[in-house]
Amino acid sequence: MPDPLDEKYSRQVLFAGLGAEGQARLRASRAVIIGCGALGSYSAAALARAGVGRITVVDRDYVETSNLQRQALFDEEDAAQSLPKAVAAERHLRRINSDVEVDGRIADVTPSNVEQLIGGAAVVLDGADNFETRYLVNEACVKHGIPWVYAAAVASRGLTMPVLPGRTPCLTCVFPDLPAGATETCDTAGILNSAAAAIAALQVADAMKIMSGALDRVEARLLSLDVWENRMHSLSLGQPRPDCEVCARRSFRHLAGQGRPQITMCGRNAVQIHEHERGLDLRALAERLRPLGAVQTNDFILKFRVGPYQITLFPDGRAIITGTTDPAMARSLYARYIGS
Ligand SMILES: [Zn+2]
Repeated sequence: MPDPLDEKYSRQVLFAGLGAEGQARLRASRAVIIGCGALGSYSAAALARAGVGRITVVDRDYVETSNLQRQALFDEEDAAQSLPKAVAAERHLRRINSDVEVDGRIADVTPSNVEQLIGGAAVVLDGADNFETRYLVNEACVKHGIPWVYAAAVASRGLTMPVLPGRTPCLTCVFPDLPAGATETCDTAGILNSAAAAIAALQVADAMKIMSGALDRVEARLLSLDVWENRMHSLSLGQPRPDCEVCARRSFRHLAGQGRPQITMCGRNAVQIHEHERGLDLRALAERLRPLGAVQTNDFILKFRVGPYQITLFPDGRAIITGTTDPAMARSLYARYIGS
């Protein structure tokens, strides 16, 4: 009888660039996906199908109906239950491939947890929706010598670039400062699912080269495409910048917590409050809040609707406050209903 594993990955093993040895390396690898929105959804599913041994998906948000147009890992049931994306992703990935060890982490990526989250990874895939998180991931990966693949998509456009620390330019080499247009988000410009899928597919190809050991196929380049305007462009990057603050001077200011605090949420009229790191008893809180507004809970979060606002609380004390983009208003709502 043929080995069922051989059968499962047979078409991939037949590809000369991978072969049985490449497949064995994928199986022995751990990939960490930072953010499970449109990009993270596609990338996580592709890596699970490809037989990557261990996949960690980190996400701070929960599934909403407006995500389903592009976040291919989730369905209407996940949105109806407001499941955290990390939880829903873990469930779906296990159904896609039971051979893969999947670990969904409900967390905001911060200077205090990023190194622990990426520790032991063969590759890190960027599925974040903001540059602060990307700079943080870049610094942590450069510091620990872990390859990572930058990716971003908005409207009909996308960008991706692999970073092999010490060998190819890092994110700070290419974007020493926040790039112009980086403030444009899927909130303001929308996003086509095909743009995200195309960029995620290119990101996955680089991640698979890295995990399977085909580093000679990883190019120092920034690839951009526009699925609406029919454009695809590869910009060769050459060597890392000798004066790069991060990969040359090894100064990690985002890791040291000096970056701008990340409080707004992409694609949302919402603010995240995460300075309250403390355990919350969501059940007790639900009882206390019930007379004041509409309360909905599941095993992972508590949603509290009051007036035009919705406060979504996580057990670690973090909250996403929808209905405002004003951090001061969000903080005052938090203090009023949850405590200061
Ligand atoms: Zn650099």
